[in-house]
Amino acid sequence: MLNYTETMDFSDDRLKIVARLSQNSFCLAVFMCACALIGLAFNLAGSAGLLQGPFSDAATHPVTAICLCCLAVALHLGGRGARPTGSVRFLCAFACGTVLLHHTLTWLEVYPATPSQLFHGRVSVEATLAIVFLSLCTGLRGRMKTQGIVCLVAFLLIVMNCIIGATFGVTFVGGDLAALTLASMCFAALLALSNNANDPFVRVLLLSSEVGVRARVMAMVGTLVPWATGMFLYRLWGMPKLEFPIVALMITVIIGTTIILAIFSGYQHQVGDELRQAAERRLVEQAVTDGLTGLRNRAGITQVLRRRMLDLKQSGRPVGIVMFDLDHFKRINDTHGHDEGDRVLVGVARCLEPLLRQGDVLGRWGGEEFMLIADLRQPEELTQLVERLRVAIHDLSRQLGNKSKTTPIRVSASFGVADMQATDASYNDAVKRADMALYQAKAAGRNCVAIAPLFASRVA
Ligand code: GH3
Ligand code: MG
Ligand code: MG
Repeated sequence: MLNYTETMDFSDDRLKIVARLSQNSFCLAVFMCACALIGLAFNLAGSAGLLQGPFSDAATHPVTAICLCCLAVALHLGGRGARPTGSVRFLCAFACGTVLLHHTLTWLEVYPATPSQLFHGRVSVEATLAIVFLSLCTGLRGRMKTQGIVCLVAFLLIVMNCIIGATFGVTFVGGDLAALTLASMCFAALLALSNNANDPFVRVLLLSSEVGVRARVMAMVGTLVPWATGMFLYRLWGMPKLEFPIVALMITVIIGTTIILAIFSGYQHQVGDELRQAAERRLVEQAVTDGLTGLRNRAGITQVLRRRMLDLKQSGRPVGIVMFDLDHFKRINDTHGHDEGDRVLVGVARCLEPLLRQGDVLGRWGGEEFMLIADLRQPEELTQLVERLRVAIHDLSRQLGNKSKTTPIRVSASFGVADMQATDASYNDAVKRADMALYQAKAAGRNCVAIAPLFASRVA
């Protein structure tokens, strides 16, 4: 069974906007702070009688502003590493602790809920929950991944709930949420999403592939349809804006569920696609690999031959072809058995590989016949290389002989060397010349190198 995590790599398949968001995390954090601080300024100015209007009803509470600013810094710093640093965790704990302490002190009536002399409003339930979940998802990132993602989802649902509420014109669970607090939370959502873009579930929504597009369309339709229904109910149908807007909450639940389903389905598709692609890659690799020696098989070499012929015709890059055949291999099989013959074939492949230069391709043409497709910028270099290969195969007799306790194994090979000509109709012409040269080497007594006449004139 393939392990999908080894094969899944989304780095090149991500929407460009995500990369841009990650690069601009500083700007997003500044916007997040700015919204919170401007909200707070309106609050203080409104309390001082300098401002009247929409901000006097719902205004950013100082505790909310402080927590959001801390979280902005934490989100910006936390986005860089895979795991949050000590300072990021401290900022998250501070924000979470501050908002909870504020509610505890208010509940204990240590200080009044709305000290109207100084500022308006109170820390709403939505803002409290958003700050707690955002602190947890930022602080837990990389450590407790699942819990972190659950907190991120909870935070996003709260933000979405607030946006939906604002568009429907209804007040939510805890009362008013300042417009600027909500704006600050929207920037926080963007930052948190881009920070978690590597999470398998989050990145499904961010893929530029078909899977990503499908997941985004599903999520978008799943958001717009219930939202439009709600708009119809509240704005056109005239549904009463109850104090506890259960319908708006239901709509958020429906939207949240649809998005989670879209992500899960996209994730399953992506995993399936990755596994299929990995299996296909393995099949393709198997189709061009020789099972015994691990070298390229005939089909694999043919691919290289075709490509090199094209290179030669297009850019004039010279190519050498060396065919070699083990001498009296039948005898080895007959004397030492087929298994020993197989070991010789593997031994030949292993002993030649270290001698190859960059760009040289060695393969098994068939049976005990091999082919080397070589770089030919220096023709003399190739003849020297072929001589080294011949000696290495011959030396194998000694190595195998040491291991064999019975009759020594004699291994040698005959070589035919040719080059591709730009005038050749196909690579086959060059292969035929190398084969003819090999035949001459066999006729000349084996364990030697013969050079095709056309190539010989280049070497001389
Ligand atoms: P020559 O020097 O003329 O090439 O003689 P040869 O015996 O090497 O040539 P011949 O064509 O008569 O025999 C090739 C032998 O290689 C016959 C075949 O059984 C053996 N052979 C082909 N493929 C394999 C293989 O994968 N494993 C083993 N063990 N033997 C193989
Ligand atoms: Mg042979
Ligand atoms: Mg043969």
